[in-house]
Amino acid sequence: MKMDIAIMGAGLSGLACAITLEKHGITPTIFEKRSQPGDRFVNGEILLSIFTRPKHDDIASLSEEYGIFLKPAAQIQKMNLFSKNEKAILEGQLGFTNIRGRHQDSFEAQLAREVKSTIHYHSEATYEQLSREYSHVILATGDGDYSKKVRNFREDLTVSIKGATVSGNFDRYTVFSWIDYDLAPLGYCYLIPFSEKEANISLAIPDLPQNSDKNTDDLWEGFCQKVRTELNQPLPITDQFQITGYPIGICRSARIGNTFYVGNCFGSMMPFMGFGQYAAILSGVYAAYDLCGLGKYEKLMEPLRQSYEDSLVMRRAMEQLSDEGLDRIIRLLQGYWGEKLLQTRALNPIKLASRLLRPYIKVKNGTTS
Ligand SMILES: Cc1cc2nc3c(=O)[nH]c(=O)nc-3n(C[C@H](O)[C@H](O)[C@H](O)COP(=O)(O)OP(=O)(O)OC[C@H]3O[C@@H](n4cnc5c(N)ncnc54)[C@H](O)[C@@H]3O)c2cc1C
Repeated sequence: MKMDIAIMGAGLSGLACAITLEKHGITPTIFEKRSQPGDRFVNGEILLSIFTRPKHDDIASLSEEYGIFLKPAAQIQKMNLFSKNEKAILEGQLGFTNIRGRHQDSFEAQLAREVKSTIHYHSEATYEQLSREYSHVILATGDGDYSKKVRNFREDLTVSIKGATVSGNFDRYTVFSWIDYDLAPLGYCYLIPFSEKEANISLAIPDLPQNSDKNTDDLWEGFCQKVRTELNQPLPITDQFQITGYPIGICRSARIGNTFYVGNCFGSMMPFMGFGQYAAILSGVYAAYDLCGLGKYEKLMEPLRQSYEDSLVMRRAMEQLSDEGLDRIIRLLQGYWGEKLLQTRALNPIKLASRLLRPYIKVKNGTTS
């Protein structure tokens, strides 16, 4: 039987995999359940360089090291970070904003334009069908459903997210983030502009027992009020989305037989602040490397697996903090330590903090389905 590859899902990881395979002379077939790349709500996302250090420019690294060319919406030069009573302003080359979803400049739309292989839209093909018909299947559906079904997924938490596109006047180089448990208990909120006139605002809270009495709609109203006051603008909502019970977890095996788990199907979404784009793209590239005989997927994924585990320690630490503790951290970031953090580019703060915290933080894993 010759190698015949099906990619299930035309998102970041699936398309990055296809592009890499094509570069090496292999043509996969892609199956996407929606009608076009990113056919869902539009939102702004970010790539923050402190999370992928010692690399300091994710966009440059993706093009130079992996041949994945992406145009972000803007470079982030300023981040306003709020806790309940404190504010820190971080300035420098912090990373990039980018667009996702149903937009001609979204990351998935950009990647799809680079792909030459056939993409079957409106696909109803199941994993079972594809694995019968193809020698290899790349599972890139953006969630842990199939991994869970075959008991390969350790789910650590689920998150409820509410977001919207708002109109206004924005400095596209500045993002805002609130780690204030009155606004988002044990979670976070942010504003990411994706043009001078549009921004995405989102609220993410973990579905923990402590949050069982919290009403997302009430929290959302409070957050919208906060953002409007902070930006001193009415910020009318033009589009909205809501996701409940979004699973965050990781596969026990990145590859089982000839099935490769990539992107969120593997566990690219980091438990700490929900970053997952960079890891999703890399996982797609690495699966392709394995199929091209350039490395072993499981081995290539080890650093990403470690980042996930580090990020889980940070998430559990965050759940143990109070608003006072968060105020102390933001105060530190506003001063000398904030500057040191930005200047010391070789330092990955998540890696370091998680190693220091690990002996003191009980990393209780969630359901193990
Ligand atoms: C609201 C929100 C905000 C986020 N913000 C950030 C951020 O700021 N920074 C960051 O780095 N990360 C962020 N993330 C995480 C990041 O978006 C994901 O980790 C990343 O998109 C995962 O890529 P993927 O390839 O696994 O899935 P996706 O890019 O979602 O692609 C999955 C594709 O599979 C398709 N599909 C699904 N089921 C099937 C099926 N049965 N058959 C065929 N196709 C199917 C989908 O339609 C989709 O096109 C955010 C996530 C969310 C939900």
